[in-house]
Amino acid sequence: MNQVILIKYGELTTKKGNRNFFIKTLTNNIEHKLNNFNIKIVKDLSRMLIFFNDNDFSQINAILKNIFGIYTYHLAYITNTNIEDISQKILEVLSTKTFDTFKVEVKRSDKSFPYDSPTFAKNIGALILKNIKNIKVDVHNPQLLLKVEITSKNTYIYTDTFKGSGGYPVGSQPRALLMLSGGIDSPVAGYLALKRGVKLDCVYFEAIPHTSLNARQKVITLTKKLINYTDTINLHIVNFTHLQEEIYKNCHQDYVITIMRRMMYRIMEKLAKKYKAYAIVNGESIGQVASQTLVSMQVINKVTSLPIIRPVACLDKLEIIDIAKKIDTYETSILPYEDCCTIFVPKHPVINPNLKLCEEMEKNFDYETIIANIIENINTIKIRDIEDINELL
Ligand code: ATP
Ligand code: MG
Repeated sequence: MNQVILIKYGELTTKKGNRNFFIKTLTNNIEHKLNNFNIKIVKDLSRMLIFFNDNDFSQINAILKNIFGIYTYHLAYITNTNIEDISQKILEVLSTKTFDTFKVEVKRSDKSFPYDSPTFAKNIGALILKNIKNIKVDVHNPQLLLKVEITSKNTYIYTDTFKGSGGYPVGSQPRALLMLSGGIDSPVAGYLALKRGVKLDCVYFEAIPHTSLNARQKVITLTKKLINYTDTINLHIVNFTHLQEEIYKNCHQDYVITIMRRMMYRIMEKLAKKYKAYAIVNGESIGQVASQTLVSMQVINKVTSLPIIRPVACLDKLEIIDIAKKIDTYETSILPYEDCCTIFVPKHPVINPNLKLCEEMEKNFDYETIIANIIENINTIKIRDIEDINELL
């Protein structure tokens, strides 16, 4: 019995003008992720079919459930659209299932089919009751829901529905740069941005020798976890040590975090230009720490004109942790290696920073030259999905 994976586009189909582009992007992403499997994709404007080798389903399923832009998909059987073939296929499919109660739903997009959907559903119900003993119809809470989709050429029959990840296909938006620390919040922010179709590269600020190579390794591991949802991620590692030391030497203690974050944004803006990215994404959450009050955000934001996307801005820590656990970044994020934000934390970081004061303190040292030097010495690691696929499954 040949099965196919039947994908419905869901929210994608509301994007009228861009529908073809979204579907093409989704198809490319699926083809790329399933590169190691013998598959064939056939699509039209409302559904996509993936033909595959039966033995590969569980592996393909594990990959498909992480591809954004897919809402639900089904393991379906295909038959020709004629009543005899459909009836025969249904009985064949149901002979492999165990159930006491069932319901039939029919969707007929081919209006030349001789029966309307409710009538044909009733006919199929009668056929099933006649051929399978000791079962009955339950329209409210059936153990088995049989769906029959009739198109002009083919009819799809399925009982198994899988939930996809939703969202938009990655690449349906251009690139943004994710500020990826080793914490809990930023990998979750990255996941949520990918879910909206944003292509991501990551930027990690490190302050060796104040931070360790273990901390860097943690960020590499987190990037690999995000690769489950996209293809290649460039991880740009920024050596922040010199700039951070200058900030501590030249600025009032209470302001070092505010100014450090202004410097981070300045660097992010330059990197965005260099790598053709349209926005910065980070894991800031309103009120979580002193640098994330609305006043702080406003003062820190002043140094860049890029949109700053904060996907977890309005989530509680517990809600963020739930997502971190779901995407399997939590256990890595809680490993206890110091980040450049957690070293030299002042006793009383300012909650309502004053912009003029920041600008005055920043005049105390030549940060422009240091930043130019930092940009020249970026270390980039390319992290690819296909090579690592076995490790990730
Ligand atoms: P936690 O989960 O412990 O809050 P965090 O990574 O969110 O960790 P914060 O101090 O809250 O740490 O930083 C806010 C955001 O700033 C992070 O989510 C991240 O996007 C960015 N950020 C902080 N430190 C770094 C860093 N060393 N490199 C890159 N981005 C960073
Ligand atoms: Mg945080």
